[in-house]
Amino acid sequence: MKEKRTEELICIVCPMGCRLRAEVEQADGETPQVLSVSGNSCPRGARYAKEELTAPTRTVTGTVSIEGGLYRRLPVITSAPIPKDKIFDVMEEIHRAHACAPVQIHDIIIPNVCGLGADVLAARTMEQRSSDDESVFPAGSAGGFDHQGV
Ligand code: SF4
Repeated sequence: MKEKRTEELICIVCPMGCRLRAEVEQADGETPQVLSVSGNSCPRGARYAKEELTAPTRTVTGTVSIEGGLYRRLPVITSAPIPKDKIFDVMEEIHRAHACAPVQIHDIIIPNVCGLGADVLAARTMEQRSSDDESVFPAGSAGGFDHQGV
């Protein structure tokens, strides 16, 4: 049996944050069907509502440990949004990953993460630590950035 309902959500595509209303129809155990969207100031809002209500995705960010880098953690980001129900699997992969300096921004750190067709990329360039830097961030220190997730 199909059930109709109204879903309210806020568009997160741009800072306008339009309040969206979507009319949804769903049969038991089926993916919802979006019948109409209102409240959006541009077509991206309708697209966002349809995706969010049928196959929600998110871009995942995190940090991986890096050997010989200027800092001890390298920020990373997925090359494409990931299905929401796979985010924890991707975070696990990121947690296990390890990079070696030097790294250029957008270098692939984990190809095809969890077989999802997206890569995990370096979100910044990370130079190698020089012996001068070693004296600033001695072995065993947090380097001043570990706790900020940089
Ligand atoms: S509907 Fe369009 S204008 Fe409104 S928040 Fe979404 S992207 Fe921005």
